[in-house]
Amino acid sequence: TTLGLDDFEVLSTIGTGSYGTCKKIRRKKDGKVLVWKEMDYGSMTESEKKLLVSEVNLLRELKHCHIVRYYDRIIDRSNTTIYIIMEYCGGGDLATLISRCRRDGIYVDEDFVWKIVIQLTLALKECHRRKNGKAVLHRDLKPANVFLDSDQNVKLGDFGLARVLQHETSFAKTYVGTPYYMSPELVNNMSYNEKSDIWSLGCMMYELCALHPPFTAANQTDLNRKIRLGDFSRIPIRYSSDLDMIIRKMIQVEVSKRPGIDAILNEPLVIAHQTHSD
Ligand code: ADP
Ligand code: MG
Repeated sequence: TTLGLDDFEVLSTIGTGSYGTCKKIRRKKDGKVLVWKEMDYGSMTESEKKLLVSEVNLLRELKHCHIVRYYDRIIDRSNTTIYIIMEYCGGGDLATLISRCRRDGIYVDEDFVWKIVIQLTLALKECHRRKNGKAVLHRDLKPANVFLDSDQNVKLGDFGLARVLQHETSFAKTYVGTPYYMSPELVNNMSYNEKSDIWSLGCMMYELCALHPPFTAANQTDLNRKIRLGDFSRIPIRYSSDLDMIIRKMIQVEVSKRPGIDAILNEPLVIAHQTHSD
């Protein structure tokens, strides 16, 4: 039994992003609070629509405690809008957290950073396990796509759809805004692999500590140059050298030296922190 728009009550608008509007909703039958993302497919070509459907179907299969759960989709032909129903994350996103910290001049706790690194690595492991040759999810790893639930646990969200809505004609186009987290191999127009995600994860963890990305520049050319060089300053001294070291391993220009997901999860330091946070 498929639910329709009438089975939900709109509670509020959370925000409007590049692809549509997110609304907080309530499922009438049981009162469960969820969100839906409204996207107008009216101007999409047939092939884009096909890709959208397949991506959404793929998202429905991704079930993991650190990935935003997708529940359902409703298509309303009368206004050419698709409603993608997903888990509501009441703790906001990391981008908001980072800008609040920057504004207030406070740093996040080191324990929180460790927890986020571990949970996001576990989420990535699941994404990579899921790519069955046929479909590769485009993971737009950035603080705005990392959500927190009410228990401060992390939920990776908002990937896959980015790929549909901005044709992958050129690699640079798959990034909205300034691609601060773009790996050197992508800067050099080489193929995307699981270690590119590790680079982005490292950049994100760096920003969570330093409250600014490891590489910043006023223009793309300068940014690319800095990324290729891979030089950046230490995270603030209040953070341990252990944390600094893990982040440095992830932001390593040489792909072969950069750890993969399993290598990170097998790091003694990571294992130690994993048992701590449980
Ligand atoms: P953007 O292109 O900026 O990512 P989105 O449409 O994804 O735009 O999101 C719009 C707003 O809704 C953002 O403030 C985002 O943090 C929030 N949001 C998106 N998904 C969820 C969710 N599952 N739970 C809570 N808030 C969400
Ligand atoms: Mg988003």
